[in-house]
Amino acid sequence: MSILDFIAIRYPRFLCSGLTRVKGPGKTLYLSFDDGPNPLVTENVLDLLDKYNAKASFFCKGTNTIMYPELLQKIKNKGHTIGNHSYSHLNAFKVSNKKWLIDCLRKSPVSDSYFFRPPYGRIYPWQCRRLKKDYRIILWDVLTYDFREDFDLRRIKKIILNKTRNGSIIVFHDNLQAAPQMIKALEFTLEYYTKKGFRFERI
Ligand SMILES: [Zn+2]
Repeated sequence: MSILDFIAIRYPRFLCSGLTRVKGPGKTLYLSFDDGPNPLVTENVLDLLDKYNAKASFFCKGTNTIMYPELLQKIKNKGHTIGNHSYSHLNAFKVSNKKWLIDCLRKSPVSDSYFFRPPYGRIYPWQCRRLKKDYRIILWDVLTYDFREDFDLRRIKKIILNKTRNGSIIVFHDNLQAAPQMIKALEFTLEYYTKKGFRFERI
C-alpha cells in the first residue's frame, strides 16, 4: 500500500474535504452502504434496517443500478438516501484523471443524485474540486473494514466500538465479498447502539 493509499483510507479529508460526521444534539448515527445494489446482499441489509427502524444511505455503483433497477427502487421505497458511487468503480490512483472523472460523471440511474462518495475513497484534490460542482461529497468517520476477509468479527467490532461517536458516518459494503462479515457487523452495530439510545438516520 502506498502512502497515498494509506492517507485516502485513514485520513480521507486530507485529499477531499467531504462530510465525515453530522454533528447534532441527539444521539444519532449515519450508516452507509457502498457498491450495491446486489441481488444476494441488499435485501438482507434492508430487512435488518427495518428490524431496527433504521434509515441509511446507499452509495450505488452505476453499473449495478442498471443491472438491478428493482433493487434500487426498493431502497428508494424504504426511504433511504441514494448517492452516486461512480459508474464502474475505478481507482483514481490507477487510471488517468480524465478517465476517472468521465466514469464518475457518466450517466446512470444514480448519476443525478445529490451525494457522491469516491470509489475506494481514492480521490485527488483537483478531482474533488471538480466533483463538488455537481455533488456534495460524503466520506466517513468510521470505516468498518468489513471487506477485509482476514479480519475476524471480533476485530471489526472493536474498530466500530473504538471509532464510533455521536454523528459518525459509518461505512459498510453492500457487496458479495464483504457480505458474510458485513451482515454480522451490521447487526451488532444496530443492536448495540440501539440499546445505547442511538437512532439511525439517513444523510
Ligand atoms: Zn466502493
